[in-house]
Amino acid sequence: MMMKNMGYVYLIGAGPGDIRLLTLKGKECIEKADIVLYDRLVNPLMLEWTKPDAELIYCGKLPDRHLLRQDAINDLLVKYGLEGKVVVRLKGGDPSVFGRVGEEAEVLELASVPYEIVPGVTAGIGAATYAGVPVTHRNYGASFAVVTGHDKSEVGHPSIDWKGLSTAIDTIAFYMGIGNLSYISEQLIKHGRNPDTPVLLIQWGTIGKQKTLEGTLATIAKKASAAEFKNPAITLVGDVTKLRTKESWFERQKLFNQHILLGRTNDEASNVAKCLREEGADVFEFPRWTSLEKHIEIPEVELYERILFTSPKSVSSFFNWLNRCRIDVRKIKATFYGASIKSLRAIERFACIGQPIDEMINQGNLLVLGNNDWQERKTIRQKMYGNHDFIAVYSTKKVQQSERTCQRLLDEDRIKTLIFPSAKSVHAVTEGMAACGQTPQQLNEIARVICFGEKSAEAAMQLGYNVDSKLPEPSIEALIDTLAKES
Ligand code: SAH
Repeated sequence: MMMKNMGYVYLIGAGPGDIRLLTLKGKECIEKADIVLYDRLVNPLMLEWTKPDAELIYCGKLPDRHLLRQDAINDLLVKYGLEGKVVVRLKGGDPSVFGRVGEEAEVLELASVPYEIVPGVTAGIGAATYAGVPVTHRNYGASFAVVTGHDKSEVGHPSIDWKGLSTAIDTIAFYMGIGNLSYISEQLIKHGRNPDTPVLLIQWGTIGKQKTLEGTLATIAKKASAAEFKNPAITLVGDVTKLRTKESWFERQKLFNQHILLGRTNDEASNVAKCLREEGADVFEFPRWTSLEKHIEIPEVELYERILFTSPKSVSSFFNWLNRCRIDVRKIKATFYGASIKSLRAIERFACIGQPIDEMINQGNLLVLGNNDWQERKTIRQKMYGNHDFIAVYSTKKVQQSERTCQRLLDEDRIKTLIFPSAKSVHAVTEGMAACGQTPQQLNEIARVICFGEKSAEAAMQLGYNVDSKLPEPSIEALIDTLAKES
């Protein structure tokens, strides 16, 4: 890899949709990028992995402005590369399959900007797999081709060797082909393919709104127009498509086709989101937060008898502080208390044991550690903890960029359930949504609302949400059951 001060461009395939189909290398690049140029078909959820201050540039290609846009993109890649930035060019699927990566690499080469190409799962394979169809099979298909269903020619018909394609290839994946379906099937039949050859259309493959349509070369064009089937879709032609069952392994998942916005109030990794994704749900955690450890002083820390940690982050910030000041934890006499299970677990990670807050004795000097939000809320703190000193060991800030992701998901109709784990999350989501021009009343129209408990439900109703369900208990199992039951 090149040394510092040198710009670097990564041309990355984002995969077909499911964010977990991005390569590890691709994710690493996104995490360190200064600038991300992304396409329309890239799942916007991946933008949540960027640095909070990364610059995000949308390169959604408008069909009629194809050429102009591509030139502008090339110019930007070179410009930022020469400025010494880490640049990520993120494309749907694999960048070298109808992704113009060759042209981009060429301009970088000419400008002597160093770059790498990171492959991705191409839609023809990813969408087929998630629809339950292997693109080759010992009994049904020994060869596989990816073919464009659209072209630069005046009528937009692809100019390909139809004879060769019809007779020599078993499985064919057409990209961008929906508009030309009748032309494509006519050509294949005309050049020798059996009209009864099965065809499977897969739209939005690998994400929750994946849809399929089955037919044959003779019937598929009519069926597709009747169903108003649209791009982005793969047209998969060949006997392998017979292997599709009524529902694929993906479509059978418990939370398939669930598009969830999970309210979030801090920057800690959420186990809830992970568990929901594992059940097949599309999950967007919103808003996004970033926290910064503060340069603090804790005068006479050894004199406190009780130290209360209000969050896991306050625990790590405190221990990092001890470390920086070269203070041995054994000097601290205080009993540690955690305000939540997560905080207690965090204390344990530093080989100390904490007590739950409800077991806190009401005696001895108390130090409460938290974030800057609580600095000013002295009266509330006093009510909650009695007499105490408070130190903000870190500060939390909202990352504006997640509003862009939110907007894209709204545009793509990919927010259908709002989950509020706490009252605070209700306010955070509502504020973030307001920035996207959405009121609770408007959200009621498109999404159902699930609250973890009384307090979140109360807060939600006060702000004008229709609360559809309250969990019987605030657990992941209860959440999954509620989601699955009432979808
Ligand atoms: N480089 C991409 C293809 C870009 S061309 C890749 O390797 O997948 C854009 C076309 O890809 C779309 O018109 C559609 O045919 C296909 N495509 C991309 N994502 C898709 C998805 N999730 N489901 C179905 N088709 C998809």
